[in-house]
Amino acid sequence: MKTLIIGGGLSGLALADRLEAAGHDYLLVEARDRFGGRIQTQYLDDGYFDMGPAWFWPGQPRIAALIERLGLEKFDQFSAGDLTFEDPHGQVQHGRGFSSMEGSWRLKGGLQALTQSLADRLPGDRKLLNAQVISLTDADQGIVAHLANGDRISADQAVLALPPRVAAEITFTPDLPLAARTSMQQIATWMAGQAKAIAVYDTPFWRDAGLSGDATSRFGPLVEIHDASPAEGGPFALFGFIGIPPQSRRDEPRLRQHIQAQLIRLFGPDAAAPKQLYIKDWAFDQNTSTQADLEPLYAHPDYGLPQAMAHLWDGKIRFAGTEVAAQFGGYIEGALEAADAAFTQVTA
Ligand SMILES: Cc1cc2nc3c(=O)[nH]c(=O)nc-3n(C[C@H](O)[C@H](O)[C@H](O)COP(=O)(O)OP(=O)(O)OC[C@H]3O[C@@H](n4cnc5c(N)ncnc54)[C@H](O)[C@@H]3O)c2cc1C
Repeated sequence: MKTLIIGGGLSGLALADRLEAAGHDYLLVEARDRFGGRIQTQYLDDGYFDMGPAWFWPGQPRIAALIERLGLEKFDQFSAGDLTFEDPHGQVQHGRGFSSMEGSWRLKGGLQALTQSLADRLPGDRKLLNAQVISLTDADQGIVAHLANGDRISADQAVLALPPRVAAEITFTPDLPLAARTSMQQIATWMAGQAKAIAVYDTPFWRDAGLSGDATSRFGPLVEIHDASPAEGGPFALFGFIGIPPQSRRDEPRLRQHIQAQLIRLFGPDAAAPKQLYIKDWAFDQNTSTQADLEPLYAHPDYGLPQAMAHLWDGKIRFAGTEVAAQFGGYIEGALEAADAAFTQVTA
């Protein structure tokens, strides 16, 4: 029984890892030229800076177990010191308060150390990069996937380990039932409309001034800021979520100027010259976001696998990916939860 796993983010990688360990026949295909999906780390000197997810939390059993099994190490989100607040007029105050991300964990080496480690363990003939699936056909004996590069892959079944909205852009022949397609399009992709900026510095001047690096702003463009430095040593960093709607933040040079000016207002003149200012806008990355994801999300959606998506093409189409996880949907823990559920289904 050959399983084609479509999508090499954490969920697809974790499923491949389990199928490999169980001696099953599978192939993992990934559209991008790297594995990891929404997990992406930038490296500068000895520093590692997460452009997608950065945190995981106590009470998430799968991510804790996986990190331990892979010999990786977690560390506490830095949060010692005063908070910073910027009011709607750009007036800045520092003071005591509760740091919103205190108690969160980060991974030494960045979260990409996790996805890279999983990818490296898979044999070379079980994984393909630059392999975007553009159509799936229900063939008598299984399924046939057509790639953007013209290649065709046959398998007995396929697992869609990608955001359901992105999966809905694949051409299905015959088309999926309307209820399934509608469900897929209605599931908002967690954090897809977000953009993150990371300013990297030689010294942690905010820490030296008694500030944690945590800031909230009603003035922007960054609305929520935290320390993003590595566990030990430098270079050091501050990161912020960009609070401007996707359509209004496309002028990157202008956005950079405003971020720079805001960091100086919040943390002083030392913030003026970052070694590097990374910006990653997920809203315009077509392997993560669709047009529908440009609409802001105001709350964490209720995730899980809708009934309409549960048994497509006589069970030859399955779903993984964090958005179908019932308990931890949206989070990296959910990507692992969904991989576990898909493993049970495809090996049944
Ligand atoms: C800015 C940001 C911050 C976040 N912060 C956190 C956090 O702090 N903590 C947390 O727990 N979670 C966070 N998340 C959510 C977290 O990133 C996801 O839960 C997790 O990475 C999802 O993994 P996945 O494998 O399900 O999906 P993805 O990582 O999206 O993987 C899907 C894969 O499918 C590939 N693909 C797409 N289309 C095709 C195709 N047609 N053919 C082949 N491959 C295809 C994509 O390239 C991608 O690699 C954040 C996300 C973002 C964007």
